[in-house]
Amino acid sequence: MYMMDINRKQFSEVKKSIKTAIIPIGMMEAHGPHASLGTDVLIPREFLRRIDAEMGEQLLIGAEIPYGRSFGLLPFEGTIDVSTDAFSNYVYEVGKEFYRNGFPYIVLFNGHGGNIPSLQIVTEKLAELGAIVMTINWWLDYRHTIVEITPGFGHGGEDETALVLAIDKKLAYTEGLQPQEFGTLPNIKYHGWGKDMFPDAYSGDPGAATAEKGHKLFEALVPLMIKDIEIMWNTTRGRV
Ligand SMILES: [Zn+2]
Repeated sequence: MYMMDINRKQFSEVKKSIKTAIIPIGMMEAHGPHASLGTDVLIPREFLRRIDAEMGEQLLIGAEIPYGRSFGLLPFEGTIDVSTDAFSNYVYEVGKEFYRNGFPYIVLFNGHGGNIPSLQIVTEKLAELGAIVMTINWWLDYRHTIVEITPGFGHGGEDETALVLAIDKKLAYTEGLQPQEFGTLPNIKYHGWGKDMFPDAYSGDPGAATAEKGHKLFEALVPLMIKDIEIMWNTTRGRV
C-alpha cells in the first residue's frame, strides 16, 4: 500500500493491520554515459511496485528519498551529492517519524552503494530507539542470483542497465559500450578517486544488458526480497 495514495482516515485504519513501513532510498547520479541519472530511484520503485502487488496489504510504502551520498561519482556531472552527515541525519529523522507514527518495522529499500555507510548509522540509531530495521541493498544481498543472469554486474553495469531497460527501453542504451574494470581499489580514497574507480562513470559490462535479462532479474529477486521481509517478521516475533 502506498502512503501517497491514502488519506488520514485510511492511514489510521491501515495502522491497525500494517506494522511495516518501507522507505525507498535512491540517488541522482551519473551511471556511465548510457543509463538514466535516476537509475537508483527507478529500480527500487519497480521492485516495490512488484512487491506491493504481492503483499501490499502488509506493507506501507512511503515516499521516495531521491538524493543521497555519492563520494565515488562526485567527479561526474549529473551527480547531486548530499554529505554523509546531512543525509544520515535526514533519513534518521524520516525513519523516526515512521516509528512515532506507529510502525515498529522499518525497511530501508536502498538503490545506491554510496548510501550504505550513512544507512548503517541510521539503522543502528533507529534500532536503539526501539525499531526493528532492515536495509535491502538489492545488488549486494542477492548477488549470487544476479551473477547467474547478468555476470557483467557493476555500477551502471549489466545488472542495473538491464533493470532500467526492463522498466523502459528509453532509459538506457547499450550500443558501443565496452566492459570496464575498476581502475583502483574500493578501499583507497583520495580527491577525485571516483574517476579512477569508475572510468566513464561505470563498471562491469552494460553492453551485454537486455530488457529480457532485466525482466528475469525482477522476477528472480522479488520472491527473495519477500522471503527476507518474512524472515524479519518471523525472527523478531514478540519484540514489537
Ligand atoms: Zn546505480
